[in-house]
Amino acid sequence: MILSSLLAIAIAPTSILIQGGTIVDGTGKPGYRADLRIEGTRIIEIKPNLAQRPGEKLLDAKGFVVSPGFIDAHSHASGGIMSEPTAISQLTQGITTAVVGQDGGWSKPIKQAFADYASVKPAINFASFSGHGGIRAAIMGNDYKRPATASEISRMQALVEQDMKDGALGVSSGLEYDPGYYSNTEELIALNKIAAKYQGMYISHMRDEGDSVFKAIAELQEISNKANIPAQISHVKLATFAVWNRANEVNRITANPPFTADVYPYLYWQSTIAALTPSRDWKDRKIWEKGLADVGGPQNVRLSTYIHNPAWAGKTLDVIAKETGKDAISIIQEILEKTQGEGGESVVVTAMTEPDLEAFIRSARTMFCSDGNIGGSHPRGAGAFPRVLARYVRERKTISLEEAIRKMTALTARTFQLKERGELKPNYIADITIFDPKTIQDHATPTDPTKLSTGVKAVIVSGQITMRNGYLTGARNGKMILRGR
Ligand SMILES: [Zn+2]
Repeated sequence: MILSSLLAIAIAPTSILIQGGTIVDGTGKPGYRADLRIEGTRIIEIKPNLAQRPGEKLLDAKGFVVSPGFIDAHSHASGGIMSEPTAISQLTQGITTAVVGQDGGWSKPIKQAFADYASVKPAINFASFSGHGGIRAAIMGNDYKRPATASEISRMQALVEQDMKDGALGVSSGLEYDPGYYSNTEELIALNKIAAKYQGMYISHMRDEGDSVFKAIAELQEISNKANIPAQISHVKLATFAVWNRANEVNRITANPPFTADVYPYLYWQSTIAALTPSRDWKDRKIWEKGLADVGGPQNVRLSTYIHNPAWAGKTLDVIAKETGKDAISIIQEILEKTQGEGGESVVVTAMTEPDLEAFIRSARTMFCSDGNIGGSHPRGAGAFPRVLARYVRERKTISLEEAIRKMTALTARTFQLKERGELKPNYIADITIFDPKTIQDHATPTDPTKLSTGVKAVIVSGQITMRNGYLTGARNGKMILRGR
């Protein structure tokens, strides 16, 4: 009995052959026809006309593209994965790795966070930054509306150092949010010096993405310079009227090392309502007059969630104004009075232009992200990657298919030091997405934000077929990816 089952294991084929597809390997080089064999967790050969071995699993990829699994450079899937470990909204986009710990988010050392994610056996891989904002909150508690003292900074550094030892990719910040908003440049430089010591990087949701975005980029450059660390602009955008049509100026900065950026393919952002203005003088009507004018008016601001009055959720501010007989500014102030800017509401705001977005999409060192979560209220959580391939590759031809795949895979893996991932190459880990370039399509919209994408045929995560013919197989083989390891 024991002997026969051992024998069964010994002869059981562990290899998978992907036959007949077009290989788009992630490096940007033109796609070519070849077959690809996986053994265990790794790719072992990529050649034309490989024959199926006896008992070998076969995936027919005729007419489809075979590419490295997509890496989501800025993901918020870490929350939802605990209750939705199958990650169907990511797999149907072709995403095999979510890079989390973004915007300064941090609730515990990443060693523990990784243990949490691993405990639910996630279907996709995770890599993580060490979040400045959460670390700041852990050290300063509620008394955070001031610069940190030297001793507080050194305690923050100790937490970053531990995370770096445990495989963090670097430090993230979210400087439009509490408590990161109250930190000064010196504090950010101090933490980044620790990340630099471990060859990590800095990634930032900067202080401003509107009128003062160039000042915010200058701060990112200063931090990079003084801490001697590569730096990435998170979800790069130009989100107010005053800075529209200046994408080329941003691209001139991110075109060269040590800078990079990530971008999601939508003209609307999602955040808290306070993000409509960089000011914290919320009682002043003037800041809201400007905040609303900057994004084209209250009809461009959709309240996507609001726990204090769910009936308002899903409506734009002009509609709520009409229904209540109040003006849009009073509504914003009423919401903030209830939430104190600490959550409980979110808005989806149409504030970017297509020419700027397309300029970012074309920029060579700008990679793709979703900035989405699982079950979130912005459609990017379920549609970002297919939307790039449908709208910006197939329909508008903004960039080539090979270039889009490079920005979803190898560029990201190399920048973040995700070793042996992000390319189709012998001995690399077999994270693979197979999709139909003619039909891949996002379906999520602001009013139906979790509708799943279609066109991804199969997904392999660390050598296991996790999605096949568009259906989940039940495999949940996601790994915790540590920087450089
Ligand atoms: Zn962000």
